[in-house]
Amino acid sequence: MQRAALISTKELWAHGHGTSHPMRPERLRMTCELLQAYRAFEDSRSQMLTPSPASDDALTLWHTSEYIDAVRRLSAGDAQVSPAKYNLGPGDNPVFPGMYESEALKVGASLLAARLVAGQEVDVAFSFAGGLHHAMSGHASGFCVFNDAAIAIRWLAKQGKRVLYVDVDAHHGDGVQAAFYDSDQVMTISLHECGHYLFPGTGFVEELGRVAGRGYSVNVPLLPYTPDDVYLWAFEQTVLPLAASFAPDVLVTQLGIDTHFEDPLAHLALTTAGFGSVVRAFRDMGLPWVALGGGGYNVHTVARAWTLAYGIMSDQTFADEIPETYREAYGDHRLRDSVGPEPRARDTAQAREYAERQVKSLQQLLGPDRFGA
Ligand SMILES: [Zn+2]
Repeated sequence: MQRAALISTKELWAHGHGTSHPMRPERLRMTCELLQAYRAFEDSRSQMLTPSPASDDALTLWHTSEYIDAVRRLSAGDAQVSPAKYNLGPGDNPVFPGMYESEALKVGASLLAARLVAGQEVDVAFSFAGGLHHAMSGHASGFCVFNDAAIAIRWLAKQGKRVLYVDVDAHHGDGVQAAFYDSDQVMTISLHECGHYLFPGTGFVEELGRVAGRGYSVNVPLLPYTPDDVYLWAFEQTVLPLAASFAPDVLVTQLGIDTHFEDPLAHLALTTAGFGSVVRAFRDMGLPWVALGGGGYNVHTVARAWTLAYGIMSDQTFADEIPETYREAYGDHRLRDSVGPEPRARDTAQAREYAERQVKSLQQLLGPDRFGA
């Protein structure tokens, strides 16, 4: 059994974007409750650990001091600060009471995960409240205030680690890509729904990095309705060979589950089986592993998928029948999907053809040796 930790405390969902916003705090609460219903923390090699908030020093690993100060003041109700200047306000990134505390705690959770993994205290740590991959250095974006992924990776890089970041959220991991666009010490790979169809509109194969970082930023855009088999094929053709040739010290993954066919915001067509295969592939890389959460806007799916993910991380197999306490509270009966998407032959054929073209372009742009050829 791997030594695994879930970084969690109810403070992570005490404040939040509100019940009418897709980033509902119960995503986190329900995941934690489902894991507890499965008694996921009974073995001494599987622990739940409490984070503390990231300091301003830690936040400046990626964010500007001006932005950090603005978030703190807006969070406390300071009317002198213009939220719009920082892309905060009504819409995707509302200001909410306790925003600074809540979002700094999410960063603290991912930093704790990075420290535990770097210090070899655990083999894998899952900061499921993190993965807020869109936040830019000086402004909020796409429900993300502070970019815990960029900060945790910067911290690992400062310890001298070569870091492989793989982002399987439905949206392009643009903030993390931007943070390491010049670096050859951190390789970022993002698989996502193509920017022509989905926020943030970036993440094309030509975005390869610059100067020393050229060739260390990798994007695999996919068409709406891409199903499990096409997704897994693209993953195996890109992530596995690129990871092998990069030879990282640490793996950081963003495990957004808005790729699921029932997600209300994105249009990919993965099931919990496909997502589980991706998580198992990460597990099988055998690297020290910092796992982060991410998107996912069907709260029932989020709780099931991340519970499955933690089971794979900690080598526990959870029964498919959901424990009674959770089932009675939320009405979910099965941990794994019992139905899948309705495949439409034309969509599947187009998705496959598009994925093949993207992989071929990447092989040409990056060179065959990076793919083990
Ligand atoms: Zn997303």
